[in-house]
Amino acid sequence: MPALPALKSLRHALMRAASPIPMRRLGQGQLELLPAVLMRGRGLATQRALSNALWLLRDAATGVYLATVDGKAQLTLLQRGPATHPLRQRPAGAGLQVLWRELGIRRSDAAAGGLRPCAEPSELWLAGRDRYGRPLWLAPSAARAWRSMRAAAGRDGIPLQAISGFRSVAYQGEIIRRKRRRGLSVQAILAVNAAPGYSEHHSGRALDIGCPGEPPAEESFERTAAFAWLQANAGRFGFRISYPRDNPYGIVYEPWHWCWHPPAAGALALPR
Ligand SMILES: [Zn+2]
Repeated sequence: MPALPALKSLRHALMRAASPIPMRRLGQGQLELLPAVLMRGRGLATQRALSNALWLLRDAATGVYLATVDGKAQLTLLQRGPATHPLRQRPAGAGLQVLWRELGIRRSDAAAGGLRPCAEPSELWLAGRDRYGRPLWLAPSAARAWRSMRAAAGRDGIPLQAISGFRSVAYQGEIIRRKRRRGLSVQAILAVNAAPGYSEHHSGRALDIGCPGEPPAEESFERTAAFAWLQANAGRFGFRISYPRDNPYGIVYEPWHWCWHPPAAGALALPR
């Protein structure tokens, strides 16, 4: 196993991994350790490597599959030869400030409208699949609440679909990096995308919700039976709409974006 700083914590995380269902975040959130059984590979070699592995190590920004890890914490590098492998080129300790500097974002841009920073959880739980069949990752309490809420809606004849759950700071940075390369200004980008570190999706508690036959993340969602159901019932499960019409953050109305909030002290526990 290569002796690299990012990988030292990997063995540590594996020892703590009691079950293959959580996803773990390593190296300041630049690496993700995902259960291999849930992941799909393009190409036969990757599929074979996944089928023999317990975990997949993935680049959080680009989604590139880096390595597989077996039950004995043995690492098998994917993609490139070891000398040019992304795991060897990773700068140590690249934090949020470094990312902002690279992208040309100032703190005043990021926090415009009173947005608050959102920290990433170190562990996320599988909360089912999204409408595209990808694993949906949420913070443990939000994952439990989403499963309960989706089941309750289903019993009322309302099929709810997750469109997007957890999104990492690194991935948010990559979205903005691509737009900057296309020549867009920071201001134009931040009018649509939160700055890395300031998206509620980083917390693992925010969820974009849709329903079959409805385009994702469109204002027309507010005219669906699913939205009416959410308005009447989501509060019981701890979910609240984050960006209503004329919200103080200056963010466009997002009827699809809901966030789970822990119950206030003394309140009744969440329904299971
Ligand atoms: Zn959202």
